Amino acid sequence: MQIPVLAITIPCYNEELCLEATCNRLMEVLEELMQKGKISDKSYIYCVDDGSSDSTWNIIEDLHSKFPEKIKGLKFIRNYGNQKALVAGLEGVRNLGCDCCVSIDADLQQDENAIEKFIDEYMNGYQVVLGVRTDRKTDGFIKKYTALMFYKVMNVLGAKIPVNHSDFRLVSKKALDMMALYPEKALFLRGFFYELGLKTKKVSFDVKPRFAGSSKFNLASLIALALNGITSFSIVPLRIIAGLGFLMATVAFFIGIETVVEKFLFNNSPNGVATTIILLCFFGGVQIFCLGIIGEYVGQVYREVKARPRYVVDTELK
Ligand code: UDP
Ligand code: MG
Repeated sequence: MQIPVLAITIPCYNEELCLEATCNRLMEVLEELMQKGKISDKSYIYCVDDGSSDSTWNIIEDLHSKFPEKIKGLKFIRNYGNQKALVAGLEGVRNLGCDCCVSIDADLQQDENAIEKFIDEYMNGYQVVLGVRTDRKTDGFIKKYTALMFYKVMNVLGAKIPVNHSDFRLVSKKALDMMALYPEKALFLRGFFYELGLKTKKVSFDVKPRFAGSSKFNLASLIALALNGITSFSIVPLRIIAGLGFLMATVAFFIGIETVVEKFLFNNSPNGVATTIILLCFFGGVQIFCLGIIGEYVGQVYREVKARPRYVVDTELK
């Protein structure tokens, strides 16, 4: 196999404190890999500015003017969120040309030294190489358990995603070409590449603490990510609702029979206003909850059917 052109794409949102150091470090990594003859000297870094309000874009422009061959960039017109920035990075490098692409966070929490292993696996014939974190020492208590719950729930609900894999992965040109065949707007990448059916390998790496700045995710954006992941991937929740409805109707049917039998055989009228009220509230709650889930799917359909562009580009430096 020929020595591949590697593109590294970085989603960046208000990363002025990290980005320069990150790009310098990644340029070192590229240099080392070139020295070892593992990647082509045409390899480059592609930063996607997800509508930052700080000087992130100025940093990208500066780096691009200093290293026009090594650092390229794309600027969104506004903030679209991390998944869209990742998709834009993958589409951008596909257009610019590369044999494989690694996505990595701007805070270098993911171990950049694992990129060499990714390339090795790529050369062994794997089209998708997933970075899997070995532990969650750097996460706080809440993040750790919500994250673990997230993978459990996602898998039960039919969105098969690899445990402890975030968006640190290598994908081949072939995978990028396949992605271009999927017109859906709400791509949930970590599940998407896992399910493509290409030869996939997992590589574990250690997570580091964020070296500057603060996390760009809050609870609301994590919940939105999870909901999008489920609704864009699987209709298992809808089936669960249907099953639940059937089960409740069956139970109600037998309670009805019991009530009639008690009345005619034993002359017992059912009593218990409190029970009635509790059951009424309970089933009311269940119904509204189920409607909410259906609503999530309707929302997903609504967004897809409008067919708005995934993102709008302001400038590209290539
Ligand atoms: N990010 C982005 N758009 C957003 C939020 C985050 O492009 O709206 C980027 C961010 O700059 C970083 C990556 O996504 O490169 C992961 O974000 P972060 O490190 O804040 O997430 P955490 O590691 O805390 O999960
Ligand atoms: Mg981070």
